[in-house]
Amino acid sequence: MRPESSIPVRDALGRPLESLRVSVTDRCNLRCLYCMPEEEYTWLPRAELLTFEEVTRLVEVFTSLGVRQVRLTGGEPLMRHELHRLIKMIAANPQVRDIALTSNGVLLADQVEALREAGLHRVTVSLDTLRPAQFRAMTRRDDHERVIAGIQSVRRAGFTGTKLDAVIVRGVNDDELADLIEFGRANDAEVRFIEYMDVAGATQWSMDRVVSRAEMLQRLEQRYGTITPDSRNENSAAPAERFLLPDGTVFGIIASTTEPFCRTCNRSRLTADGQWYRCLYATSGMDLRGPLRAGASIENLTELISGTWSARTDRGAELRKVERFRGAFVALEELRRDPHLEMHTRGG
Ligand code: SAM
Repeated sequence: MRPESSIPVRDALGRPLESLRVSVTDRCNLRCLYCMPEEEYTWLPRAELLTFEEVTRLVEVFTSLGVRQVRLTGGEPLMRHELHRLIKMIAANPQVRDIALTSNGVLLADQVEALREAGLHRVTVSLDTLRPAQFRAMTRRDDHERVIAGIQSVRRAGFTGTKLDAVIVRGVNDDELADLIEFGRANDAEVRFIEYMDVAGATQWSMDRVVSRAEMLQRLEQRYGTITPDSRNENSAAPAERFLLPDGTVFGIIASTTEPFCRTCNRSRLTADGQWYRCLYATSGMDLRGPLRAGASIENLTELISGTWSARTDRGAELRKVERFRGAFVALEELRRDPHLEMHTRGG
């Protein structure tokens, strides 16, 4: 075990290894236009998925190196059978200070009690629109009512710190900024607007469909008056920058496309089949399932992860920003060949 003083392990740019996103499945029950717009997908073979015991063991290795926050994502994480069992296993790790879940909300009302009892701390629900017809157009599914019920069930179950994430796409839902803030306020949840990103899988992305943070703020100021940055932003590694409306309502904007924040990125991602990615834009990851199943000791895995993180220089979103001709990041044929490139496989 490494001495306490050397954790968290830092990368080549001084960024600590603090936050781990675990994608528990690549399957999803929605087909959001900014993430899964295609008709057909190549799925990870089920036999290759990590078991809950394997995920828990890897989380232990990561926490020994400094990780304190674990976020479960996907795909749609609630499609993984008995997810609450995994949460309970991770919650038993005393080094984990924060276990969060990112979900589209469709299956949330059915599972929320079990998730809470298992030890889940916080929930983020993706909610891009308040209009059922628009939801159908954006997701190709008819589940808007279930998502709203899911969001309402989170508060009833006693969760606090709930967030609602909305990807804003020009001409689609950019007229709903204020409505979403009002909905968040009424439901005790903080709304965060996400700029449409050209991540792999966003095959319909183009710059003219991105609504920038600057434009969102300008539109919201027209409606609410002066907006001020929240003082909690300083020294924060959180992806969202927080703002305050004149009445004190807080909302966030994740400006990954126009104002990337790679310099504070303390996050890495584990796919459901055990590939480890140090950047959302990385085109290759490191296989951790192979060594794990070959019987590698905790010490071997710790060395592998710590050595790799120490050499990390990734700044994917910043490099994308300076591309002269920016279109979809990865071609469809490549995505079909390697589903690990997809946002829904590595987890948002
Ligand atoms: N199914 C869950 C959900 O819907 O929240 C978790 C997985 S989803 C891939 C995680 C997050 O990725 C969502 O909040 C979604 O908004 C975000 N996302 C996916 N594609 C995106 C894109 N092209 N630009 C910005 N955010 C994206």
